[in-house]
Amino acid sequence: MGYNIQNWDLIQSTKVSGTSKMKCPICTPTRKNKSDRSLFVNFTNGTAKCFNNGCDALFFKDSIQNSIVKESYTLPSQEWRNYTKLSDNLVKYIENERKIKQYTLNHFDITEESYYQPALNKEVNNIVFNYFESDTLVNKKYRSGNKKFTQSKNGKPIFYNINAIIGEEECYIVEGEFDVLALYEIGIKNAISIPNGANDNDNYWSNSEKYLKDIKKFYIATDNDESGNNVADKIAQRLGRYRCERITFEGKDANDDLKAGVLEKTIHNTSKYPVSGTFKVSDVIDNIFDLYDNGMPETIYPKHHSFGNLKDIFSVMRGHLITGTGIPSHGKSNFTEWYVLNLVRDYKMKVSFFSPEHHPFELHHTTFIEKVYGKNFFRDNDNCQRISKEEILRYKEWAEEKVYLTGTENGEFPTWDWLFEKFKEQMFNYGIDIFVIDAFNKLGFNGKGNRLEQINEVLTKLTMFAQMNNVIIFLVAHPTKMQKDLNGLYASPTLYDVSGSSDFRNQTHDGFCIYRYFGDGAEEKGYTTFENLKTKMKFQGEIGGVVEFDYHIPSGRYYEKFTEVPTYCLIDEPKEFEEEKEQKEIKPITPATPTEAFGITDPFGEKYEEENEIPF
Ligand SMILES: [Zn+2]
Repeated sequence: MGYNIQNWDLIQSTKVSGTSKMKCPICTPTRKNKSDRSLFVNFTNGTAKCFNNGCDALFFKDSIQNSIVKESYTLPSQEWRNYTKLSDNLVKYIENERKIKQYTLNHFDITEESYYQPALNKEVNNIVFNYFESDTLVNKKYRSGNKKFTQSKNGKPIFYNINAIIGEEECYIVEGEFDVLALYEIGIKNAISIPNGANDNDNYWSNSEKYLKDIKKFYIATDNDESGNNVADKIAQRLGRYRCERITFEGKDANDDLKAGVLEKTIHNTSKYPVSGTFKVSDVIDNIFDLYDNGMPETIYPKHHSFGNLKDIFSVMRGHLITGTGIPSHGKSNFTEWYVLNLVRDYKMKVSFFSPEHHPFELHHTTFIEKVYGKNFFRDNDNCQRISKEEILRYKEWAEEKVYLTGTENGEFPTWDWLFEKFKEQMFNYGIDIFVIDAFNKLGFNGKGNRLEQINEVLTKLTMFAQMNNVIIFLVAHPTKMQKDLNGLYASPTLYDVSGSSDFRNQTHDGFCIYRYFGDGAEEKGYTTFENLKTKMKFQGEIGGVVEFDYHIPSGRYYEKFTEVPTYCLIDEPKEFEEEKEQKEIKPITPATPTEAFGITDPFGEKYEEENEIPF
């Protein structure tokens, strides 16, 4: 096979964590330079690679087969060697159509196998991309001559060619196996492919985490089209923009540019993700033109009309820390959750909540479910039926890769350092866009110094984290005890009143206060106000601006005062977007086949649609 997998026990060391450069037990005996430490060992994740050219030994501490059984994936038959003899038709076809040579097919252990293609409802000949992790075949992707796809049943989702990045500092990420092969043709070996075309799922990220964690630089080389750009953004979101650059091809992808003879040039066509670090004008010139053509960047706000003119007085942006305050029991958590769930819906975002006050998790989810449907979880109310079990299942489908809850295990007391570690993990594993911390006082400090200094340090870290990772952080913070005015009402808190430090006012990008007027319980109905306490950019809203809301007790939803209780379901495609969608759907659409569901855009082109033209 393309990789020289060796036994971990040959590495003589008692270390269990950290990294080392050592002499390679495989090639050292036959080398002139017996003292060269060509073996890079990562004891923490249990991998090692020899960087002596021609040796390329790879070592894995853990048995992949055991882990597959433990994670209840199904191991495909390991008999792949039976199929490595490729037909002349296939080899010629790949060489002519894709400019990929036989030695590359051999290096990647491409096989040719007859296999059942669900889309064709029969067994046909396929080119097979074998997904190896260590020397274990963990998944197989079958591609028929007329570009139908299927994969082995319940295989382990992981990046294609993951072995190639062991010990590497840089890594190329592409959108298809043929692009990995294309890069190999120009001498780039450290390339991996997402397994499902332009789909971004959590599982293959979690399964590849240990191999990607220590990489210093990623070149994101997904397709040069809309879905390729979208998935590139999601990848950068997970990996951290500061260590990513985007490659733009002339054609659609790496294989296109290989065919056009320009790949060696276009592979250097990189641009940074502007978040931090040092930038030349050319790194941000596209953004400058974007400002010129489209004006100030679009801010983020809930789009449903039941929020009234809230978007005119307050909106948020990526990279911002937002502090929400309010007197206890005035609804600041409730409002924040309603606001955030709408952002999840309107912008297809993913959110992670750290809300120890709302334990246990299942109870917290019931409040989300109520907000999602606009109904009560426990009983019928106001002509609206209690949430059904079917709706709970539908919520599960919807929220599964969108809403995440974080808590400590074993009742440990959470600290800020612990939370930042969790956040980093979640960025990678789930590609989170919004973090909600409810509330500030539920975390212990790790730093030195007095309380004010520690608060200041945490706020600095939070703003840095938001900026570096291009995420939105909502921080719920309690005010100090407020004074009552002449009418016996508590004063509305400002950011200066947030307990502990005036740094809340200075450090947070944006801030708001939720204040509840309880009414007299008879004629006068209570209501809630949202006040903009701070917005960093002028175009985000109007500091001091206020919107009044009514509150729907059964569902926990807020809506503009004196308007109807909103009944929209957060799971349904937003109506506001429907017109746009209808216009796009003018083209005739064919029902999705399992192949399409697999999510790959085809590399073989349109011309082999007809079965009698199948090339191999
Ligand atoms: Zn070696």
